[in-house]
Amino acid sequence: MKNISVIGSGTMGNGIAHVFAQHGYKVALIDVNPAALEKALTAITKNFDRQIAKGNATEDLKNSAMANITTYTSIAEGVKNAELVVEAATENSDLKLKIFTDMDSHAPQGCILASNTSSISITKLASGTSRPGKVIGMHFMNPVPVMKLVEVINGYSTEKEVTNTIIELSKAIGKVPVPSNDFPGFIANRILMPMINEAIYSLHEGVAGVSEIDTIMKLGMAHPMGPLQLADFIGLDVCHSILMVLYNGFGNPKYAPCPLLTNMVTAKKLGVKTGEGFYDYSGGNKELIVSKSFG
Ligand code: NAD
Repeated sequence: MKNISVIGSGTMGNGIAHVFAQHGYKVALIDVNPAALEKALTAITKNFDRQIAKGNATEDLKNSAMANITTYTSIAEGVKNAELVVEAATENSDLKLKIFTDMDSHAPQGCILASNTSSISITKLASGTSRPGKVIGMHFMNPVPVMKLVEVINGYSTEKEVTNTIIELSKAIGKVPVPSNDFPGFIANRILMPMINEAIYSLHEGVAGVSEIDTIMKLGMAHPMGPLQLADFIGLDVCHSILMVLYNGFGNPKYAPCPLLTNMVTAKKLGVKTGEGFYDYSGGNKELIVSKSFG
């Protein structure tokens, strides 16, 4: 495998493009929004600079990786030579279904169609294509260049050979693949999102403030980051969408997003990517928002 297309160049898409390009793959990075593509190239350059400063990469590696990435605004153009497409567009099931149908129409016949979805059914995405056996979940973690895990999700019809290919490819780019079956939230988010939602409920109900909740989980449970900071980092819109998939998929009210989370998403306070969530990131650092009552 040499040619990989990545659809969506946001938080995850740019990281996925970075890692494949760094390992010598030709990457077609596709986004409907040209500004998002610009931003992605800037982010990848910055992330390489950070790796270089830490001694984990060289200028030569950065230059060859950047030369491996070509950007496109059209799916038809961007996937036409792909052997694997990794879809990392916005977490919305109708949007992803449409993208899978488009990829299926334009990608070569043997091409594997993977999704980086956090929670949406791989079997459902496969149903929009003529090749359900070649559809699989390839769920990277954020930040992609740093995090080792890839959750590999087998849809109902995913062929064994396709799973094996994705497992071997994940290892080839320095990741550790872990397989899961296809149920809402898979493994990672079925466990993580109820914890984040409960942290937001604790804040909403006035049990404690942002700093106390995050400190308790860091110092008490040895989590490297508190759940509210992690939610900001993931994106509050992404957390909300995943909780809705769990809520609808299991039909269980315990997964319903906390009203405070819904309000913050409606107000477009989405966390790091918009400069404000549970913390303020507008100055380039993580600052507590002391003036706001979250209760
Ligand atoms: P994001 O909002 O940062 O980026 C999404 C990108 O998709 C945007 O640039 C948008 O312009 C683009 N897009 C939307 N519609 C498109 C289309 N029709 N064609 C091409 N591009 C399109 O989102 P993200 O956080 O990068 O999440 C992307 C996916 O990765 C989601 O499925 C999410 O659940 C999953 N994911 C996110 C995280 C995380 O921590 N953020 C972690 C693991 C998985």
